[in-house]
Formats: sequence, structure tokens, C-alpha cells
Amino acid sequence: MSPSLTIRASAFASLFDCAYMFEAIHILGMKNVVGRRAILGTAIHAGTAAFDSARLAGSTISADDAAGVMMDKLANPDSDFDPNKDSLSKREAEIIGITLTAKYCNEWAHKFNYVAVEMTTKPLLVDCGGGTTICLTGSLDRARIYKDGDSVGITDIKTGSRAVIEDKKTGLHKANIAGHGAQVGTYSLLYEHTTGQEVTADAEILGMSTSSSARIAAGTIKNAKQIITGTEDQPGLLEFAADMFRSGKFYPNSKSLLCNEKYCPRFNKCTFRER
Ligand code: SF4
Repeated sequence: MSPSLTIRASAFASLFDCAYMFEAIHILGMKNVVGRRAILGTAIHAGTAAFDSARLAGSTISADDAAGVMMDKLANPDSDFDPNKDSLSKREAEIIGITLTAKYCNEWAHKFNYVAVEMTTKPLLVDCGGGTTICLTGSLDRARIYKDGDSVGITDIKTGSRAVIEDKKTGLHKANIAGHGAQVGTYSLLYEHTTGQEVTADAEILGMSTSSSARIAAGTIKNAKQIITGTEDQPGLLEFAADMFRSGKFYPNSKSLLCNEKYCPRFNKCTFRER
């Protein structure tokens, strides 16, 4: 059966944030111009992925080389960006980018035994009922697969000004895992579909703060796959997604952290947000 719609694996989880925005971007093709902080995030991912990929291939590159890849991507972004969309200057972005890339390469990368970096997956067809089928495809962008004994798990790197938060109880910093379960769960499902190997280790989120603190901290998600697939008694998000694709009803969420003209191409015309 040919799919009604093909969706990139990395985009799928955004359906569970504001589905109405997801529809605008991934079904209707509306585009949003991003700010420098988003470009910085992409650049850091490119630098750290170059480092990990080289390590995996046995041809190590230095943290300086990885920072060079980051700087190159920062200077030549793939997407349109508007430097006035946020207050981050070019110089600040460079300093934060170099600091985070070096910190990651020198202090964090060796903690994980990676077996894949931004792996390309085998397309996964999801029957939504009523003659509608979607195909999840593409690579596990910004994620790695790590091995721990006989188990494998997902390490997902998240950048952003709120990627690291303070634990109210301990006062220590930790990765902000809120809202990342759907993405990591989707990646787990696609990894299993592609390799036939079950993901049994906890998902590790590495938060990299693009604020001036340039902190990196880890956080764990134990039930990522279950969030997507559900349990015997409860449906998972995949079932809710199937309902949306079958019905064509993509619900708005004006409480989304991305409900902002910086991120949502529907923002100016959206009748569901408060004015
Ligand atoms: S403006 Fe807010 S509610 Fe409307 S589509 Fe965008 S994110 Fe969703």
C-alpha cells in the first residue's frame, strides 16, 4: 500500500506539541524563518555529530576540528534565518557554540559507547485506518545509539536556552526532559524496525544550554517507547496520531512553548491563540 503521507522521523514528535502547527509545516508546507539561536543549535549538532561519526569510524577528529565544523555551519546555515528574530549576536553565538562543542567532545562524548550516529532508518508504514497510511522515514537526527552491555538505548542531544534546568530539590543542573519522550520513543521504534534489535536501555537526554552559561547536563527517560506504543490497557501516542491523520483534524495547542511568531508560521492567522 503506498502511503498517503511521508513524514520525517525527526518531525513526527512535533505532532504532539501543536498538531495545528505540525499540519502547517509538514503537510501544508508553510515555512518559518528561524532566529540565530536555532541556527546555533543546528551548528552545534553538526560539530558534535562530526566528532562522534569520526570516532565511530575509527578516524578521530579533535575537538578543535569539531568546533570548526560548527563554525562553518553557523556561517553557512542550510535554512533562511533572520538575525533580528532573537537577541543573540554573531559573536555570542560563536563563543557559546565553540564552548559547547569543546565541552561535549572533551567531557561528554567518551561517556557513551555509541554504535550509530544520526542513523538512517528503514521506512515504517503506519496504517491509520480508513485507507490512510503514513510512512515514517529519514534519519534519527541529532540522536545516537549507545550500547550498555547487551542493551542499546537512544542518546538524544537537545540544544536551546531551556535545555538545562536546575533541579529544585537538589539545586543541581539536569537536562530538561519535558516533552522529549515522544521523539525518543519514535526513534526507539524506528531503530527496532530498522535493525530488529529491541531498545531496552533508558533514553539519555543530553541538554546543551545555548544561554551564556553554556552548560551541559544529562537526564533520563525510562518509558519513551511506551509513550508512543502505549500499554495493553492504554493507547500510545501513535494511536492518537493515527486518529489525526485518518480524520484530518489537527488540534491546536496555544499553550505550546512554540506558540510564538518566532517558531510558528501560522501564528499571525491562527484563530486559536489568545489575542
Ligand atoms: S499559533 Fe499557536 S495554537 Fe496556533 S498553530 Fe501556532 S502554535 Fe498552534
